[in-house]
Amino acid sequence: MSVHWITLIPEDPRFVPDEAKRERARERFAEIAPEAREITADVTDTIQFFHCGENFNGISCPACASDIPLRWWHDCIHEDYSKEAGYKLAMYSTPCCGFGCTMHDLAYDFPQGLGRFSLSAMNPYLLGSLDERYRAEFEAILGTKLRVIYVHL
Ligand SMILES: [Zn+2]
Repeated sequence: MSVHWITLIPEDPRFVPDEAKRERARERFAEIAPEAREITADVTDTIQFFHCGENFNGISCPACASDIPLRWWHDCIHEDYSKEAGYKLAMYSTPCCGFGCTMHDLAYDFPQGLGRFSLSAMNPYLLGSLDERYRAEFEAILGTKLRVIYVHL
């Protein structure tokens, strides 16, 4: 059986909302997606990678939209990570046009990214894709711009 998650992470990968806001967002997600198997609002000590699983189609440069070679990306994301410190968010120059960005800033299809905080609902079948108005509502509750990641495992 395949597993789907809708995961929201802050656009600023270092941002962590305070506990009361995290709990409010989790409760609101439970109202929006009452059939979800599980709803979590998690914080990690270090920055982690939130991938979209089988929804992944490719990566492009945020500056010139050229395709990013997966080999280059693998090397960079591997170099950026250490088990003790998580992701460092180092700046890399894209191979196409030399644009300076972190691994969080690349244009991922489907979206994915890096962060310390995540709000997730597991198998929210009836929801399909998250309505923009709900994203806006979570952004207001948590006090941050959010990136929506559709995970298919
Ligand atoms: Zn480029």
